[in-house]
Amino acid sequence: MASFLENTRQHVARAASALELGADVLASLEKPREVHAFEVPMPLEGGSTKIFSAWRVQHNDALGPYKGGIRYHPASSMDEVSALASLMTWKTSLAGLPYGGAKGAITVDPKAMTPKELEAVSRSYVRRLSQVIGPDRDIPAPDVGTNAAVMAWMADEYGKLTGHYEPAAFTGKPVEIGGSEGREEATGFGGAAVLREYLKTAGGELPSVGLRIAIQGTGNVGGIIAEELMKAGHRIVALADSKGAIFREAGIDVPVVIAAKAASRGPLAEISGDAKIISNEELLALDVDVLIPAALENVITAENAERIQAKIILEMANGPVTPEADVILAGREVAVIPDILANSGGVIGSYLEWVQGRSRYYWEKDEVLAKVEKAIVESFRALAKIRADRGGTWRDAAYIRAVERVVVAMRLRGWA
Ligand code: NAD
Repeated sequence: MASFLENTRQHVARAASALELGADVLASLEKPREVHAFEVPMPLEGGSTKIFSAWRVQHNDALGPYKGGIRYHPASSMDEVSALASLMTWKTSLAGLPYGGAKGAITVDPKAMTPKELEAVSRSYVRRLSQVIGPDRDIPAPDVGTNAAVMAWMADEYGKLTGHYEPAAFTGKPVEIGGSEGREEATGFGGAAVLREYLKTAGGELPSVGLRIAIQGTGNVGGIIAEELMKAGHRIVALADSKGAIFREAGIDVPVVIAAKAASRGPLAEISGDAKIISNEELLALDVDVLIPAALENVITAENAERIQAKIILEMANGPVTPEADVILAGREVAVIPDILANSGGVIGSYLEWVQGRSRYYWEKDEVLAKVEKAIVESFRALAKIRADRGGTWRDAAYIRAVERVVVAMRLRGWA
């Protein structure tokens, strides 16, 4: 199976070909502008030190400062971070934001660390990057394994280094220290808005409520979109975490399960009640209307794409469907709504947090979420128009629009 980075390159290459871009332009779209690879030490009790690999990949800033999350995961790699940084360039471009794309990671397992260790590692990461991040240069945010608490330590450390606390230097912070109302919900809320719009305009025979939905992931993204879709009148029949999945035909009471999981801090399977315990692989192949991968990349591949029974795949994770699977799914008329649209509510929410941080003027939650909804629905409609004009998949349309905007900016700035 090709790597996540190779998969991302293929998407960009298809758009470059549709836009008839030259080989030099494609090469500069693929190459990150700056790569920071380093090590983060973690002092242990007893005087020894553990060392973790860390990266910040700054992919393209033709449209504005770099923007992208920081992932804490033991299996993170430079290739993974590079793929995610590139995805951010296309996502911010597609959403019409004045940002480029970046991503960072540390190979720590946050579940195996104490809060003190987590804080030490987070502060150390920022010290190493302080010269190349900032509100006009590169604005990090949370991703898998990081959260508002991590952003609070990072923003504080950055403030110590620069001499003043700057709320616009990080997004996804707690509301009390310059975060935005609605940012935490923005990704899941935006994904639910995209699905609603799809059902209204392109969903064929599917009704707009009462769909049966399976979701892989119960974190910030999976948990919130599950709640949003339940509120919208759909039935969440399956949910998964890294240890396995649960299935209940009559529907899972999402808020109850998410609250129980948060309280137990254990796997879903241990709080399953009368739900059936199944594997993650079984969840992907369930006979449902909508399948929502909301955990990690490369989960729907050439090996399992034939077994997918859903009519719609809403990519809430980054990179969950490989290009080989895309081809199989397109042949079977399964609509894949691509990550750079489906989960862009998160970066739109981050942008709104950055704007509020810069002006020190804060909006109420409803106002923030209304702005997220407006932006993401506009993106969806623009893609629907590209598909109507040019055909192809939703992903093709998304990359054509995103790549074109970046190339125009590069040309205007004399880079291409
Ligand atoms: P998170 O750390 O809050 O949650 C991750 C979830 O995935 C957890 O429920 C975990 O149990 C599950 N998981 C981990 N490994 C798994 C495996 N092997 N099989 C099945 N489930 C597994 O992370 P998150 O913020 O919810 O991010 C999830 C995805 O969404 C990632 O791809 C991330 O890049 C993407 N994303 C997040 C945001 C955001 O705002 N947080 C925005 C855009 C995209």
